Amino acid sequence: MSFAKASVRDAEVGGRRVLVRVDFNVPLAGGDVADDSRIRAAVPTLELLRERGAKLILISHLGRPDGPDPELSMEPVASRLAELLGTDVRMAPAVVGPEVEALVEELGPGDVLMLENSRFEPGETANDPELAAALARLADVYVNDAFGAAHRAHATTAGVARLLPAYAGLLLEREVTELTAVRDDPAPPLRVVLGGAKVNDKIGVIERFLEVADRIMIGGAMAFSFFKRQGVGVGNSLVDDKSVDAAGHVLEQAAGSAGELMLPADLVLGREFSAETERRELDGIEVPDGWMGLDIGRRTADAYAAEIAGAGTVLWNGPMGAFELPPFAAGTRTVAQAIADAPGTTVAGGGDSVAALDEFGLTDGLDWVSTGGGASLELLEGRELPGVEALLDRQAAGSR
Ligand code: ADP
Ligand code: MG
Repeated sequence: MSFAKASVRDAEVGGRRVLVRVDFNVPLAGGDVADDSRIRAAVPTLELLRERGAKLILISHLGRPDGPDPELSMEPVASRLAELLGTDVRMAPAVVGPEVEALVEELGPGDVLMLENSRFEPGETANDPELAAALARLADVYVNDAFGAAHRAHATTAGVARLLPAYAGLLLEREVTELTAVRDDPAPPLRVVLGGAKVNDKIGVIERFLEVADRIMIGGAMAFSFFKRQGVGVGNSLVDDKSVDAAGHVLEQAAGSAGELMLPADLVLGREFSAETERRELDGIEVPDGWMGLDIGRRTADAYAAEIAGAGTVLWNGPMGAFELPPFAAGTRTVAQAIADAPGTTVAGGGDSVAALDEFGLTDGLDWVSTGGGASLELLEGRELPGVEALLDRQAAGSR
């Protein structure tokens, strides 16, 4: 299946003002960018636009401010971007308004202006038509390269896209293409590894893939929603109580589906969520009182690794345990290594899973590592992404 939306490669941008929605929602530490991978991921689109003589106006959200908040200014992001592009990046004092318009007025071909954090405007998350209109007045063309925000119908992702000729950036196009291929046309057998703590966000993916995957392997805190539902003792393990009923439905669905749902057979326990806590291996799954399950056990990790090695396609979202704590990282590391070594097509998503891959130095071993957590899950589940839907259809762009 080819990508159905118009690509920035086909947009006429020379000498025109191009508003680019990027996903620069990066971690900050001490007022600096702690991890610039999301900024790097947008560079190809920005370079293409600069080479073609576009005047670039960039917008992103950063964190979750309730209004203007100097701690969440885009300023450090603009500095890092300037280093990556090897050019000046001017910083606007606001998201929209007369001062911003004056700065846009001064842009020449290839120049770059970074607008302030879109969430400084309450109209952003409300998808306020007035904010969308004010943004649209700044530019002639809109490009969305923020795949990580494409599942939100906000003013900068959906609202403004309806008011300007709107194109997909290179990253967004690649993300949608890669993830759609895994969803709709995976090389069999498809094996899915799911874990982490945000169980509620991932149940829809389990339900959808039970019908098409031959195995779904569960790890991380997610496993305890299933164990709790099955009446297994979970001790103090982290359980997402909202998803226990849903886990029950999944267990029922799994009983009648071709795909097999695999749950951990052994665990690593700790007293509390801490690297210094007392640690104990459990050959089984019944967690005693006073303990919490913080990783899958070695037998489970090896069994999952063997399934991964035999897969035509592997899809991974969510760590197998509290991998940030070294005593509880082994399960995630074993699974991540197996995915990096697997001969099949390998795709991963989820902020923490991607961080684990980076930490283990395994990112390059995968075929595609998505920059989108929630967006990748919603796409895989089969839901429409408002930020993608709002873009021009390929055909419409062709006849322009
Ligand atoms: P992703 O960002 O990859 O989608 P999630 O956000 O759903 O993953 O979950 C990641 C978090 O889950 C990590 O911070 C990790 O410490 C935590 N986690 C995983 N397994 C456990 C567990 N057994 N107990 C407590 N926390 C866990
Ligand atoms: Mg996460």
